Amino acid sequence: MSNKVFELMKDMEHEQVVFCHDPHSNLKAIIAIHNTTLGPALGGTRMWNYNSDDDAVIDALRLSRGMTYKAAISGLNLGGGKAVIIGDPALKGEALWRRYGKFVNSLNGKYITAEDVNTSASDMEFIHQETKHVTGIPEYMGGSGDPSPFTAYGVFVGMKACAHKRWGNDNLNGKKVLVQGVGHVGHYLVGHLIEAGAKVFISDINKDRIKETADKFKVEFIEPAEMLNVDMDIYAPCALGATINSESIPKLRCSIIAGAANNQLAEEKVHGRQLIEKGIIYAPDFLINAGGLVNVAAEASGSYNREKVTKDVEKIYNRILDIFTLSEKEDITTQEAAMQIAQKRIDDVAHVKSRL
Ligand code: NAD
Repeated sequence: MSNKVFELMKDMEHEQVVFCHDPHSNLKAIIAIHNTTLGPALGGTRMWNYNSDDDAVIDALRLSRGMTYKAAISGLNLGGGKAVIIGDPALKGEALWRRYGKFVNSLNGKYITAEDVNTSASDMEFIHQETKHVTGIPEYMGGSGDPSPFTAYGVFVGMKACAHKRWGNDNLNGKKVLVQGVGHVGHYLVGHLIEAGAKVFISDINKDRIKETADKFKVEFIEPAEMLNVDMDIYAPCALGATINSESIPKLRCSIIAGAANNQLAEEKVHGRQLIEKGIIYAPDFLINAGGLVNVAAEASGSYNREKVTKDVEKIYNRILDIFTLSEKEDITTQEAAMQIAQKRIDDVAHVKSRL
């Protein structure tokens, strides 16, 4: 792979990839900066025990590219970046986060970090000791805390837009929804769905999280291996990416896919098209899961207002409907339609910036 990094960067149009290493804290991190046309690259840091360094590189490249489009389509003046730390999340600690914070600082604000899978607001607190280029810091430090409730709310709002498109109204009462992954986002999403009267099923691989969500909301647990056998109206992937693939699509029994996970389609064009052929409405991941980014962007801007953030997150509803309209008009997938709108904004702003 090492000899392929530049090929991948060229194919996916990345600006910069930074490899960080510190033997003392056992830090192995990759910071991928995709595009900074709209502003500094903002994106979370994920910690994961990757099977190989190659897997970590690919994840960082794909996730950072998604952030560019997410910021662009959400009307934010931010570029796309993301970082991954290779290692066991159980072994994270102060030295690792502070050393990592120094690497982030060395980029002088070109990259701003935040939480992601297996990283929390308290980890951001350690990073903050070494750099100001971090957002999503705890509320007691003047930050906005965990962005996940906003991500979950955005997914809920986007799911309602999908329901409106499919059934002519956005009432989720009685709809069968399977939430795959009841972590930070999935747990809050289940809360919104229960409140809306949906019949919720959950699936996860973490026993503590299953118990916490099942006990609190009295929802039914489905074993991961059985997940695709469930007859559901809506599938909400809220775990990891690429769950929509050639193996799962033929088995999926749902009308809508609307969830928080990044990079849900294993192959964007192929699987986006297969969903259309199967009559499944797909909410582009980087659009529907932008609520958390909207929240941390507001914190990073220095003028945070929770009510305004909530209203901004609600804009996901109409943005999703716009995507459906464009996708039908141009006979393209919803993912392609969303990327087209995001890319147009990036090109328009680049044009404006190049003028006096
Ligand atoms: P999290 O780590 O808190 O939760 C993920 C959950 O998925 C965990 O409970 C984990 O046990 C479960 N899981 C992992 N593999 C699974 C499998 N094979 N089957 C079922 N469950 C599985 O992460 P999170 O912050 O809730 O984020 C969830 C997804 O949403 C991620 O893809 C993340 O990148 C994306 N996302 C999160 C945010 C945010 O604000 N946290 C924002 C945008 C996108």
